[in-house]
Amino acid sequence: MNNTKKVIVIGGGIAGLSAGIYALKAGYEAEIYEKNTIPGGECIGWNRKGYHIDNCIHWLTGTLKGTELYEVWKTVGALSDDTEYAKIDSFYTSTYNGQSATLWNDLERTQKELIEVSPEDEDEIRNFIQNVEWSKQCLFPANKPMEMWGIKDYIQMGSTMADFPKVMKEFGKISLEEYSKRFKSPLLQKLMCDYLPKSYCAYSFLVSYATMAMGNGGIPMGASLQMSLRMEKTFKDLGGKIFYNKGASRIILEKKTATGVKFEDGSVVKGDYIIPTVDTHLLFGKLLPGSYMPKELKAAYDNPKAYPATSGFQVAFAVPEDFNEGETIFIDIDPIKVGSSGFDRMYVKSYGYDKIFVKDGKQVIQTCITQTDADYEYWKSLSKEEYTALKEDLVKQVEERIAKAFPSLEGNMEFLDAWTPLTYERYCNAYHGSYMSFVTTPGGKQIKMKGRLKGIENLYVAGQWTNSPGGLPVAVASGKFAVQRILKSEKKSIEI
Ligand SMILES: Cc1cc2nc3c(=O)[nH]c(=O)nc-3n(C[C@H](O)[C@H](O)[C@H](O)COP(=O)(O)OP(=O)(O)OC[C@H]3O[C@@H](n4cnc5c(N)ncnc54)[C@H](O)[C@@H]3O)c2cc1C
Repeated sequence: MNNTKKVIVIGGGIAGLSAGIYALKAGYEAEIYEKNTIPGGECIGWNRKGYHIDNCIHWLTGTLKGTELYEVWKTVGALSDDTEYAKIDSFYTSTYNGQSATLWNDLERTQKELIEVSPEDEDEIRNFIQNVEWSKQCLFPANKPMEMWGIKDYIQMGSTMADFPKVMKEFGKISLEEYSKRFKSPLLQKLMCDYLPKSYCAYSFLVSYATMAMGNGGIPMGASLQMSLRMEKTFKDLGGKIFYNKGASRIILEKKTATGVKFEDGSVVKGDYIIPTVDTHLLFGKLLPGSYMPKELKAAYDNPKAYPATSGFQVAFAVPEDFNEGETIFIDIDPIKVGSSGFDRMYVKSYGYDKIFVKDGKQVIQTCITQTDADYEYWKSLSKEEYTALKEDLVKQVEERIAKAFPSLEGNMEFLDAWTPLTYERYCNAYHGSYMSFVTTPGGKQIKMKGRLKGIENLYVAGQWTNSPGGLPVAVASGKFAVQRILKSEKKSIEI
């Protein structure tokens, strides 16, 4: 008789694959149930007209050897010591009124060039660079969940992050929009606000740039889907079973204990532990009664101003391979209305750095225009015909604006695909089409769920929504943490 306990994972995205892999490594049986036909969730790509379109990795935190997160990515088979990364030497470039400014991975170079662009902002620029330097200390803790930390762990964190509290003090409660106003140069104001939503706490931006600058935010060659497929392989090689086209409809509760999962096709699977990794809006709106939603999460859904969710309207084109204006470049555009919001900035990201995005002398370029909760509602209010017509019209408008900024592309852009917040809702059941968790704003608190739910045994929640602002590091670590929480409940070692 087989006495091995079985872990059922709902969702085959990065969190689900990670949970499955760590469950097997911890000695459990593991089965993953995914509603789509492939693994990866948000971390995927797809082909159009023979070109590969990437949906996810702009930067992967944890590519620096020696960090805790790197070990996790290695364990799940996403990265190895031989992984090659895109040779990109800058975070991005912003242009405005014929001038440009770049955030290079080399901070000294950035400092020098920004001061040349705007000598009157020298003090603010030096302060920015100093704080980005300090932000390099902010590494994602991925050894174990924080509730399992002991005094030693806190002392170690204190010693390795000695300067980071200064960053939090100055940038922890100020939005990017507010921060950008400290700069006199309009170009530098744009530079600070171009990449992340303006409502984000400024420190998130500094940490993101620091991650790139220290070589801890590489892009693995071979694109996002291939990384998910490597994780799926690790899971299967360890003996895990993954089932596709299996949308969960309900988690079965018996005597306040999660005992199995019911699926859309009516089938039921029983298990000893359940790890849901799906969007928490779906988890507490459908798979479990809403009354189990933790208070902090409910407060976030009830206050979208302090806890916005963001998505994007995206378009991909194929353009000549020699188009090389920098990997990610923000441009000024004639105003465009997308969803219910107006925009006068847009970016173009060139994917020619990886041959997977190149075909017959052409490369893929993409743009993503940020969409808010209100924009999602706008898209949602459209009929099918209106939705299709709006997408087509916006594609033309985006194409015109790119061609105006880069005249060499006039008549040289082949449309590949366009997608909206509703695409993410349809594909991943993503709340308001949001592919990250709630934005960390000065008005909100960071969501930090401990995985257990009051009143339900044997259920351990994982996925990016357990820890805002989400993203790949949160997703992969949450899968590991869920298994460590199971081990702890069985009074076993959490070393996996
Ligand atoms: C355009 C874009 C760019 C991004 N760029 C970055 C980046 O540069 N760096 C970064 O760190 N992050 C980035 N992200 C975010 C990153 O992709 C996500 O944070 C991460 O993939 C979330 O993983 P997850 O497993 O928590 O959730 P998901 O990927 O949403 O996985 C959940 C899975 O559950 C499945 N599911 C849903 N409902 C059910 C059901 N009822 N039954 C069974 N299965 C179900 C879904 O299909 C999905 O596969 C980006 C995302 C997008 C879309």
